[in-house]
Amino acid sequence: MGLEEYQRKRDFRRTPEPKGRVAKVSRHRFVVQEHHASKLHFDFRLEMGGVLKSWSMPRGPSLDPQQKRLAVTTEDHPVEYLKFVGHIPEGNYGAGEHMIWDAGIYEPLTERGPLEQYERGKINFRLQGEKLRGEFTLLRLNRRPNQWLLIKSDDKYADPAWKLELVLATDEQGRAFERGENATAKQAARHKVKKKSVERIKTKPNAGEAVSAAALFRRRELSGDAEVKLNGEIVSLTNLDKLYWPDDGYTKGDLIKYYYQVSRYILPYLKDRPLILKRYPDGIAGKFFHQHDVDRAPEYVRTERIAVEGHEVDYIIGDNTQTLLYMANLGAIERHPWNSRVADLDHPDWVVFDLDPGAVEFAVICELAMKVKKVLDELDLDCFPKTSGSRGLHIYVPIKPVHDYKDVALFAERVATRVAQENKQIATVERSLAKRKRAQIYVDHMQNARGKSVAGPYSVRPRAGATVSAPLTWAEVKAQKVTPADFTIKNMLARLEKKGDHFKSVLRSKQMLTDAIEQLS
Ligand code: MN
Repeated sequence: MGLEEYQRKRDFRRTPEPKGRVAKVSRHRFVVQEHHASKLHFDFRLEMGGVLKSWSMPRGPSLDPQQKRLAVTTEDHPVEYLKFVGHIPEGNYGAGEHMIWDAGIYEPLTERGPLEQYERGKINFRLQGEKLRGEFTLLRLNRRPNQWLLIKSDDKYADPAWKLELVLATDEQGRAFERGENATAKQAARHKVKKKSVERIKTKPNAGEAVSAAALFRRRELSGDAEVKLNGEIVSLTNLDKLYWPDDGYTKGDLIKYYYQVSRYILPYLKDRPLILKRYPDGIAGKFFHQHDVDRAPEYVRTERIAVEGHEVDYIIGDNTQTLLYMANLGAIERHPWNSRVADLDHPDWVVFDLDPGAVEFAVICELAMKVKKVLDELDLDCFPKTSGSRGLHIYVPIKPVHDYKDVALFAERVATRVAQENKQIATVERSLAKRKRAQIYVDHMQNARGKSVAGPYSVRPRAGATVSAPLTWAEVKAQKVTPADFTIKNMLARLEKKGDHFKSVLRSKQMLTDAIEQLS
């Protein structure tokens, strides 16, 4: 029982997956993950012996006892993987979107412990998940010992009419799966050489019933669906009363209204930039998934095909208010713009430092931010702070888009290293959580790469209180009187109208890094 094979297959500097370790105790948890890798499949994992025993299932599980589903053993995974959701970058093992399809606990059904059952090649258990319930058997095939079958027992949860529903059914693989095909990406590519262009969603014919956006968002309560007239286009909004922040009572309608209200402030930071979607279809307490590539979009959404790590990806470009509303309607709470623009994607026009708190108070983050500013002041570079909207602070250095990502990354690394050296008590550039001291803040300079991003200015965050990433003045940072919780979808507009956009210099100031890189070497 170990994780050697798991760890050997992965480069943890290049994948967001957890390194993990063998746990001392095993609770009987299970997870089924939907994995849009080179071939869409499901990963079935049962916690036992301090790890997750894992099987890869090409067609996923079934609640129909007649459907015996193939499950091929894969390497043991760490228990930390129970929670893993995210995009494994191209070039890594298992590259693709990875999301939780179902999770819960399992109850072993014999006297023998699950590990002993595993060794014997037959595991009986009862699942208590959201989708999978009741008794199941995993049975090892004698002739092919890495192949097992997952079989639903005929109990009250058995359902011969059951059909597996994907979390992400909108990409090419998802749609092929729904059609009953499960081609690999390679097989799909053989069928057609060129990637299909983005399918355009037509406006509904009954658009005559559309209301103006101004009239809709004046309403106190937003509910149901609405067709909204905006800039000569019709935007379809759905389930406006769906609760997105259950503890605060904020709905999807509140999210969409916020983006409508702040659109003229936020759009300059999204204009011409590819946006990464992080979708929360059931609000902040539900499951989420990343989406870079869009297969369909309304006419008014600008998309651009961009080569990323050898693949062609159709990105949404953040060009207009309609697009902001459309994205919010998809459950995309945050706005994640690239650091470069479509006209020159290889040359970013800002550098980002992300001060990522460990166990420290926000006042200490502010203190460290002043130290970052000091280093940048010495290099004769202007920089601008904002709350991340979560727990930390972002510092942007606006630059002329003439330096490539390699040079910008080098600059950012050197600045971060100098800050950490000068402030050892509170700062580190150590990426490994285990090696950081508790009171140290991680000066994250790793987001300065092509295709990476942080939540942009005025982006909402999927956090309690519906917080927003808020640009600050250096005086506010120095005074240590604000916290990220102070800025929310309910008060950001008032601050903007009263004090204006504290971040606008980021768009105007165009600095060169050449001298700074030299001074730092
Ligand atoms: Mn997998």
